[in-house]
This record gives sequence, structure tokens and C-alpha cells, in this order.
Amino acid sequence: MTLEQINLSTGPVNISMEVRNALSAPTISHRSLHFRQLLDDTLSALCNMLSVRHSFVMNGSGTLANEAMLHQIKTLGTKGLILSNGEFGSRLINQAERIGISFTTHVKEWGQRFELQELETILASGQIHWVLFCHCETSTGVLNNLDGIADLCIAYHVQCFADCMSSVGTTTLNLSKITMATASSGKGLGAYPGLALVFSNTTPLSSNSTPTYLDLANYSLKNNIPFTISSNLINALHTAIMQKHTAEHTNMIHQYSYKYYDIMHQYSIVPFSDRHSKVLTIVLPEGKKPVFTNFMDEKNIVLSYESEYLMKRNWVQLAVLGYYHEKQLDYAANTLEECMKHLF
Ligand SMILES: *Cc1c(COP(=O)(O)O)cnc(C)c1O
Repeated sequence: MTLEQINLSTGPVNISMEVRNALSAPTISHRSLHFRQLLDDTLSALCNMLSVRHSFVMNGSGTLANEAMLHQIKTLGTKGLILSNGEFGSRLINQAERIGISFTTHVKEWGQRFELQELETILASGQIHWVLFCHCETSTGVLNNLDGIADLCIAYHVQCFADCMSSVGTTTLNLSKITMATASSGKGLGAYPGLALVFSNTTPLSSNSTPTYLDLANYSLKNNIPFTISSNLINALHTAIMQKHTAEHTNMIHQYSYKYYDIMHQYSIVPFSDRHSKVLTIVLPEGKKPVFTNFMDEKNIVLSYESEYLMKRNWVQLAVLGYYHEKQLDYAANTLEECMKHLF
């Protein structure tokens, strides 16, 4: 078997040789025609893939994309609702507080799902003009009901904003009913971390109180290139989108994530997931976590367990967000099965 590590972490994700080569191609000026073409191609590929009107790219990690979206929300000047059922929902709440947005919250225990009826009661009050939530709540792997929430928002004439950081690129997504959504280059799109992405179905609003770097209206005004953007990162992202976003690769990811779920579900250790989850949170009986992580480590399979919120709860995560060859995913399935027999 290959000695190379197989990355089944929540990110930075597994990156293909082609994407690595794209990153190391000579840097070109962000004012060159060649860059113009590369960026236009990348943004239109994203618009097609996600069924949105506009895509924006900024230098930064995913958190920056959320800040840019939150500044757009602030510019609306109306009161809204932020949902949270995990770490990333609560980060959105903290960011919104710092930016001085007017909102209330609807907070569930980690791992619990939002009930559409409860949300409907809140929206029916007529006090809420926008809703913001995480689609895939990466801290637990729960996939929140994007279409259900979006339909509810449409019914009540409320704008709908979503953090789609760990769902973009891992599943077929249609964001046409969403006002704005965010992603990053370093998760499901299978490229390097370092680019923040915002998708929008409306023209960004301009406001003097928005920091220049986060002002999407300024990106629009300057034809998406207001400042230096790393041509290397864009080239890598473009290559990753072209390579990873095929029916064949998506299908393979689905087949193997079902398989990993089925293997672990037998032992009741993936309480927040269903077969469609691409981020599986593994909750092991007392004392078994080090045995599990050591076993997988020794077999060169990289999982996530070092984030503060995972360590605190003794959780481990296995995610299928990157670009893979089938034999890697097959090896991981066999290893996981072996590991379960060793553990239980
Ligand atoms: C990864 C992630 C983020 C942002 O993380 P960065 O480290 O800033 O890239 C935000 N929301 C969710 C749901 C995520 O999974």
C-alpha cells in the first residue's frame, strides 16, 4: 500500500498532484489579461456549479468570507435571526455581535436539528427580515435543512444567508434560493486554503462603514480585482474545480462516505450523522479514543481530533472533503473495518 498519508480530515483537505503543480506555476500579475481570463473562468465555473448569479473571491480563510457576508447583512439595516447548533453557528453569532448587527438568536444543543415549525413561528412574528445559519455544521457534521429553511424564508419574504463552508464541493448544491452563501478554497473544493468565497444572487450593497477589504460592492465595482489576488491560489482552485467536480468523483465520494457511515453505525458511534454526511463525528466509549486514533495514525490515515472543541468533547471526525483516488478510499474502508474489530 502507498506510504503516502490519506487525508480524511475536515481540512486542509487532500490535494491532487495536478493542483499542487498548478500552485507552483509561475506567479502572474493580477493586472494581466491571462489572470483576468483565469479569474473569470473560475468565478463562472463556481456560478454554474452552485446555480448563483455572482461569485466573489478574496484572499483569506473562510472566516473572512463570513465577515464580508456579515457586513452585507449589516448594510441591510434590518433585524434578523442567527441559528446555531454547534461551534460554527456560535462563531457567526460572535462575529455578528462584534460587527454591531441587529439580531436575535435561536440556539439548539450541539447535534440537535432545527425544527422548521419552530422557525416558522419566529418568522410569522414579522420582526425578522433575514436569517443566517450554517448549512453543514462542521463541528458535529449535522447537515442543516438548507432547502427547507430557504423555502420558509421565501414564504415570509425574509432574506436567507448561509455558511456553506463544508458543503460546497462535497455534494450537489443549488443555492439559487439563497441570498448569499460562503465557502473557502481549502475544504470541499479540494484546493489550498487561502481564498475566501462569497456567492450571491443580489448585487452587493455599498456602505461607507464597511472596511474596504471586506466590501463586496467594491469587488463588483472593480470587476472582481480591486487588489492583488494570488494567481497561484486561483490557478490551483481552478484546476481543483475542473478536476474534482465531475459526476464520477462526486459519485465515488458518496459511495465511500456511505460505506464509512455503515461501518461505524453498526457500533452506534456516529450519533449525529446519516448516510449522506460527509463529515462523520465519532463518539467513542470511555477510554477508546486513543486506541482508535493511534490505530488510524499508524495506518497513515489522517483524521481530525485536535481542534479545541473536539478535544474538549473527546470526539474524532472523519471527513471525505478532498480529492481522492479510489484505491485510497478503499484502503481507508478496509482499515476502518479492521480498526472496529480491534476496538469492539
Ligand atoms: C471551516 C469553517 C469555517 C471557517 O474556517 P477558516 O478556518 O476560517 O477557513 C467557517 N464555517 C464552517 C462551517 C467551517 O467548516
